[in-house]
Amino acid sequence: MDNATVLIVEDDTSIAQFVAASLSAAGLRPVTAATAAHGLDEARGHNPRLIIVDLGLPDLDGVELITRLRARSATPILVLSARIQEAQKIAALDAGADDYLTKPFGVGELIARVRAMLRRAAASPGPAPLVRVGGLALDREAHELRLDGSPVHLSPLEYRLLERLALAQGKVVTHRQLLADVWGTEQVDQLHYLRIYMGHLRAKIEANPAEPRYLLTELGVGYRLADE
Ligand code: CA
Repeated sequence: MDNATVLIVEDDTSIAQFVAASLSAAGLRPVTAATAAHGLDEARGHNPRLIIVDLGLPDLDGVELITRLRARSATPILVLSARIQEAQKIAALDAGADDYLTKPFGVGELIARVRAMLRRAAASPGPAPLVRVGGLALDREAHELRLDGSPVHLSPLEYRLLERLALAQGKVVTHRQLLADVWGTEQVDQLHYLRIYMGHLRAKIEANPAEPRYLLTELGVGYRLADE
């Protein structure tokens, strides 16, 4: 984490400077690029540990930039989006971005998000047979879930949904990604499946399903399994 290079692709100079100063103060090494083309060059030249991408760039759509970055590497990508770019933000996640921040955001939020992403990348996913999240322990060989040591019975679909979220290691997973991976690519528009099954999972896992601690809703985007 210390001194890790972070590439910021953002054409708005004041935001780029704010982000760079915040990262420097947190002990990271920022590199900035004001266009997508420059960003692609810097990504090649500096081999950053994390890339921050603004969705509104002058020369290329931010989603297209993410697609091109993803074609070359698995470097974590954090998207910066304006509130009016809701649909683009989801397209960015579908294209392989790892997380997002909506403008305006504060230093604390930015640094927390960046640190969490660097931590996840350092832990390297790998197909661990046992996934632990808080009091949850998912045994991927036995297809079993334990909550605070006690077994919880899940249907096969509930298990796959929870496993998909657990493998994202705290990252948001979009509705389309969840539907495609759990139900199949023909079902990506069946949002109600997700609502129903998330309700089932919350009833089984959460102490208070109305105020979930584990299964968090990202409004209009998808879900994430809280990792701390
Ligand atoms: Ca912009």
